[in-house]
Amino acid sequence: MKLATIGVGNAGTKILDRMLEFEDKTNRSLCRHAMAINTARTDLAKPDFIPPERRVLIGDTHQGAKGHGVGGDVEVGADVAKTEIEEIRRAFDDVEIHDVDALLVSAGLGGGTGSGAGPVVIDELQKMYDEPVYGLGVLPGEYEGGRPALNAARSLQSFVTKVDNFVAFDNDAWRARDQTIEEGYDEMNGELATRIVTLLAAGEKDDTDVAENVMDSSDIMRTLDTGGISSIGYASSPVDAQKGLIGRFREDDEEFNADEATDATKIKGLVRRAVNSRLTIPCEVSSADRVLVVISGPPEMFARKGLESARQWLEDTADTVEVLAGDDPRENATELAAAVLLSNVTETPRVDEIQDQAVDAQNKIQELDAVREQEIEELITDDDDELDPVV
Ligand code: GDP
Repeated sequence: MKLATIGVGNAGTKILDRMLEFEDKTNRSLCRHAMAINTARTDLAKPDFIPPERRVLIGDTHQGAKGHGVGGDVEVGADVAKTEIEEIRRAFDDVEIHDVDALLVSAGLGGGTGSGAGPVVIDELQKMYDEPVYGLGVLPGEYEGGRPALNAARSLQSFVTKVDNFVAFDNDAWRARDQTIEEGYDEMNGELATRIVTLLAAGEKDDTDVAENVMDSSDIMRTLDTGGISSIGYASSPVDAQKGLIGRFREDDEEFNADEATDATKIKGLVRRAVNSRLTIPCEVSSADRVLVVISGPPEMFARKGLESARQWLEDTADTVEVLAGDDPRENATELAAAVLLSNVTETPRVDEIQDQAVDAQNKIQELDAVREQEIEELITDDDDELDPVV
């Protein structure tokens, strides 16, 4: 698939930058156009792979931002984007839309810019283009507290109703205890980039000969067509150098058949491992509406039988007949990887938890606001209420 990708806010931009890094490292070509939009000047200076001319600062004259971000205020984030909608629209002038299949907007939903400006950007893209607009969104960890949960629960509603599909990443599920938050984020962003790029770059062939069951972008788009929230599973194993060589000189003899059987078992095992791995957002696999499996690696390691039995196993496990499976040949790959897209999963406990945490936070904020107002009133009013204000 070919994408125009837009990172909104700090996390959105960092994730996009890691996607570009992974593409570069693995010689893939997914993001034909990459852009960052942010309200914080310093964060826009950080990416390594997003071209400087594709970094758009919004809100530098807005009272609530002034180039320093929006302080986690989702309303300000949305207002800045609405106020600067012309500038945002102009930033898309050089997108060669005929050269892309879809657009992808990445954002962290717990802050102010990604969660507030993200949905405004998506609205605009939906108006401007006929191509699908997908979301890639990070849900905050419980440890971040009530405000990020409230931002995320509200923003999730906007994202999911506005995008054609929303791929979720749950910081809670991916947090490692022994890391600083920044170290943790760095690792998480790498894991997410690997998954999303492996999955979506399938169908964009390198120069390898076209293999038999090659995945097509239209299969990916069809799977994403369900709308709703999606999750990705992933597993990989290093390519055995000797095995690769044998594979290249295979002949139609007993050794070939033995090899074929091993490859088939390996592929089925890899797909099982991907489905049982830590998903980008934990969910009940059987609640998925559609499923897509991509096997990416050196074509000599592909096995039609393995792919077919993995597909059948998934049909049973996910309890859906809508399982598409295909190969993504990468001649010089050092790993054989399986990426599994579980599209429109409806049982994701983390979403319910965030909503509960958000409702609690909203109640607490309202209570505190009321108490504070009363306290101010009491402070400025004399004991017997004998004084009047001047005007
Ligand atoms: P924004 O710039 O106002 O959109 O705010 P940020 O993107 O800095 O943060 C929003 C949320 O994204 C936070 O509440 C975290 O949950 C999450 N977050 C921030 N940075 C990262 C990151 O690098 N990786 C991941 N996975 N999550 C992040």
